[in-house]
Order: sequence, then C-alpha cells, then structure tokens
Amino acid sequence: MKVVVVGGVAGGASAAARLRRLDENAEIIILERGEYISYANCGLPYYIGEVIKKRGNLVVQSPEDMKKRFNLDVRILNEVKNIDIKKKQVDIYDIKNKKNYKESYDKLILSPGAFPIKPPIKGFDAPNVFTLKDIPDTLEIKQFIDNFNPKRAVVVGAGYIGMELAENLYARGTVVTIVELADQVLGPLDYEMATLVHQHLKEKGIEFYLNDQIKEVEHQNNFSIVKLASGGEIKTDLILIGIGVRPEIALAKKAGLEIGERGGIKVNSHLKTSDPDIFAVGDAVEIIDFISGKPTLIPLAGPANKQGRIVANNICGISDKYDGTQGTSILKVFDMTVAGTGNNEKLLKKYGISYEKSFTHSANHAGYYPGAIPLSIKLLFSPDNGRILGAQIVGYEGVDKRIDVLATAIRAGMTVHELEKLELAYAPPYSSAKDPVNMAGFVASNILKKDHAIIHWHDLKSRYNENALLIDVRTPEEFSLGTIEGALNIPVDELRNRIGEIPKNREIIIFCQVGLRGYIAFRILKQKGYENIKNLSGGYKTYFPTIQRQSNIDIYEYEKIDKADHIKASLPSKNSDIKSNIQLDACGLQCPGPIIKVYKATGELKEGEILEISATDPAFGTDLESWCKRTGHQLIKILKEENVIKAWIRKRNDQGQENKELNNVNNTGNDKTLVIFSDNLDKAIASFIIANGSAAMGRKVTMFFTFWGLNILRKPIGQKVKKDFLGRMFGMMMPKGSKKLKLSQMSMGGLGGKMIKYIMKKNNVYSLEEMIEQAKNLGIKMVACSMSMGLMGIKEEELINGIEIGGVASYLAAAETADTNLFI
Ligand code: FAD
Repeated sequence: MKVVVVGGVAGGASAAARLRRLDENAEIIILERGEYISYANCGLPYYIGEVIKKRGNLVVQSPEDMKKRFNLDVRILNEVKNIDIKKKQVDIYDIKNKKNYKESYDKLILSPGAFPIKPPIKGFDAPNVFTLKDIPDTLEIKQFIDNFNPKRAVVVGAGYIGMELAENLYARGTVVTIVELADQVLGPLDYEMATLVHQHLKEKGIEFYLNDQIKEVEHQNNFSIVKLASGGEIKTDLILIGIGVRPEIALAKKAGLEIGERGGIKVNSHLKTSDPDIFAVGDAVEIIDFISGKPTLIPLAGPANKQGRIVANNICGISDKYDGTQGTSILKVFDMTVAGTGNNEKLLKKYGISYEKSFTHSANHAGYYPGAIPLSIKLLFSPDNGRILGAQIVGYEGVDKRIDVLATAIRAGMTVHELEKLELAYAPPYSSAKDPVNMAGFVASNILKKDHAIIHWHDLKSRYNENALLIDVRTPEEFSLGTIEGALNIPVDELRNRIGEIPKNREIIIFCQVGLRGYIAFRILKQKGYENIKNLSGGYKTYFPTIQRQSNIDIYEYEKIDKADHIKASLPSKNSDIKSNIQLDACGLQCPGPIIKVYKATGELKEGEILEISATDPAFGTDLESWCKRTGHQLIKILKEENVIKAWIRKRNDQGQENKELNNVNNTGNDKTLVIFSDNLDKAIASFIIANGSAAMGRKVTMFFTFWGLNILRKPIGQKVKKDFLGRMFGMMMPKGSKKLKLSQMSMGGLGGKMIKYIMKKNNVYSLEEMIEQAKNLGIKMVACSMSMGLMGIKEEELINGIEIGGVASYLAAAETADTNLFI
C-alpha cells in the first residue's frame, strides 16, 4: 500500500507515525511545502518571548529522525499543487530544485492546516506588520524585535494567539496595545468570564481597545500610526495580526472534493472526504461539535493529532470514528489561566439549545494551607436533565486539572448531579475535601432541584431598579468596601434577629461575595415564609467586574514610553526597607478574610506604627486601598511577589490632630462637591474654574455630572456602541463633548461660543478642554451619574478617559465631608 500525506506537522505527522506502527510494509511519503515538519506551533509565541530559548526545541522531529524511527519518506520544500482523483496521483513542485513531478497513491491524507487571516487594510502590507503561523514567521518577528527593539506594539485581535503574543511581547519589554472588534477578549469565554481577564490585563498595564477596529495604518519614518474606527490613533513600531485562521481548502476544492457549510473540507465520521481514497484531518476539516451536533471548525492541536491517528486506523482496516470536538482549550494570560470546554452560552443561544448556568468561586486548595487562590467556574447545563453542556474557568492555579475533569465529564455525558459525587484527590496543598468541581456540581444541582432560586448578574442590572429589595448579607466591612447601589446590609449571621426589617410583600434579592452565604440566607428566609426571593448567582464577585469599565484605552503616550518602564514599575523590589511593627500573614484567605485580619491587627498597633501584610487574594490590593481611604490609615506601599501581594500601612492618628502623612479622609470638612447638571459652555467653564481653584488650594473636589452635564464628558467622535432607538436619538441631538457646547445666553447659533473661546485665548485663559485635563491632573474626582447615563442612553465608552461611573451614593459620600456644595 502506498500512502501520500500532504502536510507534515500536527495531523500529517501523527497519521504517518501511526500508519507505520500498524503497517511496517506500507510506502509512506510525507509532502511538506515548508522547511520543517512536526514542529510545535503552540510554542512559537514563547520563542518570540524568549521563554523557550532554543530554536531547536521547537522542532519535535526532523525528517532524518522520522526516517530513522518510522522509515518515512519525508520530503520538505515539496508542495502539492494538484490532485488527480481519477488517476489517483498528485502533482508536486520541488521548491528547492524548481522541478515538477508526480506521485501516485493508494490512499491520500490531507492535513494542510489553516492560514492566518490578513484583512485588506491599507498599510497592512508594510514590513513591520506580521501574522504568526509557522517557524519562518516566528523567526522574522523575533529578528524584527531583536534588531529594532520596538518600544510599542499593536496586537490586532484578542484571541488565543493574539493574547499569547501580547504576553510574550510584554515579556520582552515592549508596551502592548490590543485592538479587538468584539466587546470582550477571548471569544470562547462568555462576557462575564472575560471581564475577569479584562481586569487582570489592566493590572498588568496592557492597553486594550474593545468594540473597535483598525481602519488604516499610516507609516512614517520611525513609527506607524494605527487609525481606529472609533477615531483614536495609536503610534506604534510593530503590528501583529491575530484575528483568526481559515482552513486551507484550495487544493481540495480544485480537486472537486466536497466543502462543508462552514468552509472546511467535508469529512464523514471516519474522516473520509467525498472521495473514498482521500482522508482529511486537522484545521482544514469541518467536524461535528460534540455538544450541538452541528458542523464546526475548531483549529486545535489535540483534535488534529487524534484525527491523524483515527485516519491511520481506518486506512489499516481498524474501523475508527471521530465523535466530534468539544473545543477544550487552555491559555496562560500573564498570571492567569483561562480554560474552556464544550459550548459557551453564546453558542448555546445561537443553536437554540436550552440551558441553565451557575457561577462558583472556590479556592484552588484548602484555604488554611498557604497560597490558596480563587478560581471562578461557569457551568452550563441542561435544565431538563442536568447534562453538562459547557464549562469555563478563570483563575490562577489549579485551572488545568479542573477543566480536564469537566472535559472528561462532558465526554462521558455526565450530569451536574454526577459532579457532586466525583471522588477527586484531596490533600490541603492540592484541593479541598469538596473540590471546586464538586462545588460547581452542588450549586448547579441545587438550582435544578429548585432548592435555590437564582438571579443572574445581567438580570439584576434591570431588575433592581424596580420594586425589589436588595440585601447584601456580607459583613459590614465587606459592605463598606463596595456594594450594589441601594442594597441594605444585613449580615447573614444577623438575619434571624433583623427579619422584621424585611418586608414580605416585596421581591427580595440577596447577594453575598460568591453566592454561598446568599444561599444560606435564602434558605433562612424561605423557611420563614418568604416566597419571592432570589440569590445572585456567583455573588458580588461575578457582578462587580461586569460593571467596571472594560476597555483600557489611552494609557500610554508614545513619546513618553521608556522601554520596559511599566514592567519595572509593576515588578516587586524584593527587599523592602520599610520596618514594620507587626507582620500579618493573610495568605490563603479570600475576601473579606484579609481585610478583617487587617482591621483586627490595626487595633493592636499604636498610632503611626506600621503593619506589614501578605495576602494571596488577587482583589486584596484594591480592597486595601479603598479600606485605607475610608479609615484614614496610610497605605505606604503595595507590591506583588509572584502570587503574594505585600502591603505596608501606617496606623492613623486617632487623636484627631492632623497627621500630614495620613490620608485625611474622615477628618476633613472642607471638601467641595459640585453637581453639574447643565451643558452650557459658560456654566461648564465656571464649574471647572471653581473646581480647579479649590483643588489647587488642597481641597478634595468631587464633580458629579448628571443629565445634560454628562455631555461635557462625551468624547468628540462617536463611539461604536449598541443603543436602542431613543438612545440613538438622544446621542444625535446632544452635543458630543466640550467643543460642541453652546452658551446659555447670546448663543447666536454657536457664534457666541466661538467668541468666548476667542476672548479666553486672547486673555490667556485656559480652554475648557485644558481645564478638564488640569482637573484630572489635580486629582479631582469626576463622577458620571449612572442613572442619567441609563436614561439618556450614554454608554461608558462614549465618555472621555478618567471618569468614574457612580450613583448618587458616591456623590452623597463626598458631600458628607464637604463644606461647599454647588449645583450648576
Ligand atoms: P498544521 O500543523 O498547520 O500543518 C499543516 C502543514 O501543511 C503546514 O506545515 C503546511 O506548510 C503544510 N501544507 C499546506 N498545504 C500544503 C501543500 N499543498 N503541500 C505541502 N504541504 C502543505 N493549538 C492548541 O491546541 N493549543 C495551543 O496552544 C496552540 N497554540 C498555537 C499557537 C500558534 C502560534 C499557532 C499558529 C497555532 C496554535 N495552535 C494551538 C493550533 C495548532 O497548532 C493547530 O491546530 C494544528 O497545528 C493543526 O494541525 P494541522 O496538521 O491541521 O495543520
């Protein structure tokens, strides 16, 4: 038997090796148009980042090794140009010797892979624009970085390859900006899971534009300017495109083989094409989605390798079927690990498959063993029988083994009820007696058994404005660090005693940090006769990241980037010279554990003494910052050493006398608050003159922009955001930003505004735009009223940078310590 294999990497090499193991006498020829076979595509970004140091490590097998071990005839730099199905032969071009020749076959295996998409955008043909597919691409990119030392790179597309490239460029000291068309990174994740990744990218100082795309690239002498559809511009030295791949089907199409509806080579369950003697595998083929049964394209190495093996079995008379792909995948995103298997919610919706979902946040191992760190699991399952349809995990450690358990459970057709029963390995350094997978099973199972009524983060946003009563059942410390607007704080342990505060005739929505205490509160209230109760699935921890600003734009100025500056800034200085009075180990505890420990420890400190804290909860840094602001203790320093956050705080002066080093939050009384309701140019100018003047005098100033006042904060160029009809109408009618404002009187069709600007310039008075920038530099807190934004259909992305979104509570909190409160 003579077998010809087209493509010598994942699928092709795997098929050929298996064939030889089954048939020692077969003649097996591998034709590969590139210079390398059997190399590790998946390692390429890490070679660019110099994590993999030796180029040779990327090549798993050389043609000579394959010859020696498997007696294969491997011909690199040989491209198959044509397949003659009738004659059962292929036309080959020998690239090195510039010769055409033919080769006959009994069986042909196609594993030509996929090619990276490069859209026809003006400027994408320049020598500093790359895609990454194979070893030659990798060497070119690495050489560019080695030679030109780019200080800034733009990565187009936040898929797996884009994200790996971003991380590896960052590792080389290059400032990275990601531009992504969707409203989230990493398409295989659902939105709320991706919001966890967005926050991590922000922590790492990665700039990213969501809901945006590149319109064109203009190349200058020393740099390029990437022009975005939103109107933004990014100066860069290097552009890497990672917006996905398309199956290599040209050869198959020309030969008349059937192409499937998703654009891949059509194969049956034995991976046979429409021709009985031709098989196809890997990125080029269209396979069946294991969950939905629909045709799909899943370009991953695992499926390609397994398909290669199955084809070899079938060719050698061992009937073997490919049951479909789950798309199980995993990715390192800086310190995080992100993984998924099965269908995500977006796909289930698209396919019309009914589903329910649950969110759990468990520690990767026993909380009392040092280093425990949370991982977040989203489980999708059938509401009818509990069959698991998909899972996503975002965390730090221990994500890999959980996703593999869940992938296995999906393959075995298991239900969430069966997850509860899985007996998984446990010792404190590795897991808990109830593993995070068991926990996900318990929660999902409770939902299905109607033991527990839940509400999801997206429904909560629209529901709580109605008549529902929100109850935060966390501790007062946690409540003070941030809660959902309008929530009443009744800690779960006080619930029985304070039940009189809860009306029976209203819908009650309970929430806690991760959902567990909410569930206990739910059970208490249910048994006390409350009917209309729901618990927020995944708690505040799932909800909070979804209401944050998701993009991270305009954080770098090209001229000011000093290579690797941001990286140096985020790296710990190993030996801190701060002498602490008490050292506190809060490692392994999850929120609010570390803050409660800090609260108790400060009680033991004398005024001015220093507390040193170590914690592993990733949210600890932001929590501590808010806590210090609220309590008036001074946050001296915060840094991260691997997974441990270290912080030093100085105890505040409790005598009330001013301690210049402390954050004077609680002992002020001369702060200023301004409510800016109007979008008249003169009133906006007056507001900023007062605000900037007060800030310059050392006063803390909060500007709360509501209704028409929000227009002052709008970006001048329209953002691509989804709006309803009324939102679009409002958007069109209202002024877009400071430059479009009109005077309250003598507007004279806009002439008055132009005159005043002219006079201000002539008299060396700052323009409104300059005053806004000054306000930011002076640390003035500018808050956009979330309620008015909702009413007027203004989206977060439409506002200029540096604006907080807040409710009336943030204004009132500021007003409490203010002696002047202006309504403009
Ligand atoms: P390939 O491995 O791409 O091999 C196809 C080969 O066919 C190519 O070498 C090509 O030159 C050759 N060829 C094509 N046409 C012809 C022709 N006419 N004549 C001769 N030769 C031809 N997957 C994961 O699961 N995990 C990861 O972490 C991961 N990381 C990745 C990182 C990068 C940068 C890339 C590019 C891919 C990554 N993948 C990853 C995807 C994975 O590499 C692919 O799914 C897998 O290699 C597909 O195998 P294949 O055999 O179908 O195609």
